[in-house]
Amino acid sequence: MPEVPVDAADAADLVVVGTGAAGFSAAITAARAGLDVLMLEKRPELGGTTARSGTWIWVPNHRLMREAGIDDPRDAALRYMARLNRPDRYEPDHSTLGLPPEEHAMLAAFYDHAAEALDELVDAGAIDPVMLDRAPDYFAELPENAAPYGRVIVSRGRERPDQLTGRELVDDLAATARRLGVRIETGCAVRDVVRDGDGTVRGVVTAGGRRIAARRGVVFATGGFTHAEDLLRDFVTVPVRHGGAAPGSEGDFVRIGQRLGARLHNMSAAWLAPVPIEPLVADPTAFTTNIFALRGDSMILVDRTGRRVTNEKLAYNELASVFLRWDPATAEYPNLRLFMVFDDATARLFADGKSGNPLPLPGVPAPHVVTGETIDELAERLAERLETAVPEVAGGIRLDPAFGPTLAATIDAYGDDADVGVDRAFGRGASPIELFRNGPPRPGNDRNPAMFRFSPVGPYHAIVLAPATLDTKGGPAIDIHGRVLSADGSVIPGLYAAGNCAGFPSAQAYWAGGATVGLAITFGHLAARHAAAS
Ligand SMILES: Cc1cc2nc3c(=O)[nH]c(=O)nc-3n(C[C@H](O)[C@H](O)[C@H](O)COP(=O)(O)OP(=O)(O)OC[C@H]3O[C@@H](n4cnc5c(N)ncnc54)[C@H](O)[C@@H]3O)c2cc1C
Repeated sequence: MPEVPVDAADAADLVVVGTGAAGFSAAITAARAGLDVLMLEKRPELGGTTARSGTWIWVPNHRLMREAGIDDPRDAALRYMARLNRPDRYEPDHSTLGLPPEEHAMLAAFYDHAAEALDELVDAGAIDPVMLDRAPDYFAELPENAAPYGRVIVSRGRERPDQLTGRELVDDLAATARRLGVRIETGCAVRDVVRDGDGTVRGVVTAGGRRIAARRGVVFATGGFTHAEDLLRDFVTVPVRHGGAAPGSEGDFVRIGQRLGARLHNMSAAWLAPVPIEPLVADPTAFTTNIFALRGDSMILVDRTGRRVTNEKLAYNELASVFLRWDPATAEYPNLRLFMVFDDATARLFADGKSGNPLPLPGVPAPHVVTGETIDELAERLAERLETAVPEVAGGIRLDPAFGPTLAATIDAYGDDADVGVDRAFGRGASPIELFRNGPPRPGNDRNPAMFRFSPVGPYHAIVLAPATLDTKGGPAIDIHGRVLSADGSVIPGLYAAGNCAGFPSAQAYWAGGATVGLAITFGHLAARHAAAS
């Protein structure tokens, strides 16, 4: 760790490393507090995974909720998060809800400051907020959830009054930061920090050897480690080897934190969502969006035997965990590849070309979709595809010889359930998020909008799906001010982290769409506020 003085001529009050949601929240807050801010981004483009996102931001008890009279009490919100984070420890009447006090304090800090972090971005002109009041939390039905609707915010633009894309959101954040005097440099990877004799972080060292002084501190906001194979091997025991995160998510801050003796936290967890594996393998550099909903009613997800394994409409983080089920009897991951099977009408009715929906639009080439005129032919083509594709596509999974007949029987049984609107096996279509993501029912389906009998006439289609991350969420642990902690629990002075590079105690939980960006802006904001006050 370099301990020699940095070049004071190359300096800022606050150095922010990374230009996603967490970085911009820190930079904008700090600039509005009067600090001179320098942002460093290792990629040529700004925005990281934030620029790929659906731009949902989950913020408990925000201003628009309060103005609309939606009550989001603190106790219930903390219970909801605690219940999902640590169901094994959760005690609703305990003073810290059964959580270790420091974890409870982190959830409380999030609840207490998320709305303020959002207001900072709104007041700065970076976000024009709209409340998605029809978007339910992912466990809206839990008794702990006192405000199941209203916490999701998106930003709108003049030409796009519904909501911006991730790239547009990043453009707005960057324009706001620049207007406030923030300097932004791209193509500048930070490789290390500089500490003085008492261990306080005083600056950074870039890959090019520049030593930049940071008078008030350094905020790391460098994303997760989806694209660091060695870190995935070291820390993530389940075989999730792919992800939709931007290429900059290489775990740089995990490595820097390890050298600093930081306490690493939540390293084995990730924000999960399945992905269509073939496009990702065909071009790993292109952006293949993770799946946010298996849309469609005449659609099922089956395993290599041709049987359904889950409620296909689960929220994506939970759905991805089904792929990672370990079978102790056979000592393997039998669901590592699952097959989304649907009929032609489903593709026509539910494809929308939007990010997160893998159904092919009519007339648009979709080489990842396998098609057969009959179920038997579909089974043959799918088996062929798995055998002839590069090994990464199949992930070691081969179809059972009886896949075709079993799939036909599964589709028949599914049709019987769809006819009465009740999924006896998995309860599909029962929770608010399932119905919200499914979209409106097809005309004539007045039973269960998420289910419909398959057409007796082909063609039928299948897509090979794999488990994937949106990004990981473990890293050096932080406290309620975003300060990075050493292995002994003490604070590393001058060093802050926020977003996916920081270890926040959310465990495997995904409370709602927007939870990751909500956390990122909140702890970016808190870090900047603390640095400004120091
Ligand atoms: C398809 C998709 C849709 C999503 N939709 C949503 C959504 O709607 N709502 C939601 O909450 N979450 C969503 N997510 C997840 C969300 O996008 C991320 O969790 C979030 O944007 C991460 O923000 P961040 O600031 O932590 O990191 P990032 O946005 O990843 O930014 C990190 C930046 O740091 C840079 N960097 C890394 N190392 C260095 C270094 N050493 N030096 C300098 N720069 C460095 C990277 O290049 C990158 O630009 C989605 C993810 C995907 C893949």
